[in-house]
Amino acid sequence: MKVLVINCGSSSLKYQVLDMEHENLLAKGLVERIGIEGSVITHTKIGAEDKWVNETPMPTHKEAIQQVLDAIIDKDHGVIASMDELGAVGHRVVHAGEKYAHSVLIDDDVIRALEDCIDLAPLHNPPNLLGIEACRELMPDTPMVAVFDTAFHQTMPPESYIYALPYEYYEKYGVRRYGFHGTSHKYVAQRAADILNVSLDDLKLITCHLGNGASVSAVKRGKCIDTSMGFTPLEGLVMGTRCGDIDPAIVEFIGQKENMTQAEVNQVLNKKSGVLGISGISSDFRDLEDAAEKGDERAQLALKVFAHKVRFYIGAYIAEMNGVDALVFTAGVGENDMGMRDIICNDLGNLGIKLDVVKNRVRGKETIISRDDSPVKIILIPTNEELMIARDTVEIVEGR
Ligand code: ADP
Repeated sequence: MKVLVINCGSSSLKYQVLDMEHENLLAKGLVERIGIEGSVITHTKIGAEDKWVNETPMPTHKEAIQQVLDAIIDKDHGVIASMDELGAVGHRVVHAGEKYAHSVLIDDDVIRALEDCIDLAPLHNPPNLLGIEACRELMPDTPMVAVFDTAFHQTMPPESYIYALPYEYYEKYGVRRYGFHGTSHKYVAQRAADILNVSLDDLKLITCHLGNGASVSAVKRGKCIDTSMGFTPLEGLVMGTRCGDIDPAIVEFIGQKENMTQAEVNQVLNKKSGVLGISGISSDFRDLEDAAEKGDERAQLALKVFAHKVRFYIGAYIAEMNGVDALVFTAGVGENDMGMRDIICNDLGNLGIKLDVVKNRVRGKETIISRDDSPVKIILIPTNEELMIARDTVEIVEGR
């Protein structure tokens, strides 16, 4: 079955076409500036020399999806002969609240349930829904599946997800920890089991998704039992521009000192904090490492604070699971930043975590980077959320 995977943001949209018979990527692309002047689609047919770029007005997501469909059936740079060849569409959806612990076939009830979750993800769910609605209009007969960032974390026990707030806020408004990046954590956990040739049921894993957004999960016997992101993706690790865990009293304190509204402080915590906030230089770890090497003390500090928080969660999750069999690194920083992996794993020998500094000199490749005598395996696994979405999509559509 050929599957179109769509990840729809407010003004941009990423897509991939996969042939799931052998899990081959056929094409991928990006639509930018939806609803803004200068809308453009950049389409890549895998194996072709050049990218195909088309600037054309796309006032809404419907025109954007139409452009994607035109690109994938185009006789020169397309990858399918007609729309009939497309077996299903898989949509990435950020938030399903407590409603779905698994991916689902999209119907009117699912759409209503996702609309009910808009309160919980006001920035993400509305564009996800726009993408789904546009696809349903343009491809009414093609089955569609929603794959949720929150679903994998729904197995967390209450002690992991309940905040110590008046319980009625959980009951009335759903204020609890949800966790995000679930598709990525699930994918790398499954790959780790494959690489180690051990059933997921027999493994305790700590999966570190370290990108611009970052989270760590404790995965015991294939089930997530804790994760560092919470009610929103702001909680947990220090990130590119997000603060991660802070004392909540800081919000009012800074608001008063800087004469800012709560919304303005929230904006600072999401967009101007993290390693960008500490360093004052960049949210990109490559820039920070360049600056740190040249002696910039705040860049050095930002990297240390980031690593400290990852180590903090690794220690906590080892305690929660009473041990760990493998530590997995994924996403932009986790896959590429050998220096950061080195700092995170430094001096954890007493916990059984021993990085091999030579094997660690690798980027973006699936490989074991722990020493042969390390009781805990350290594994680098490039994430592939689109493949995971396509797998779920096929499973659900074929199982109907
Ligand atoms: P997201 O999907 O959350 O936007 P990614 O997983 O793509 O993030 O990660 C992007 C981040 O990965 C960049 O901001 C950068 O800090 C980091 N990164 C990418 N390549 C490298 C590299 N070679 N060395 C260090 N960091 C890198």
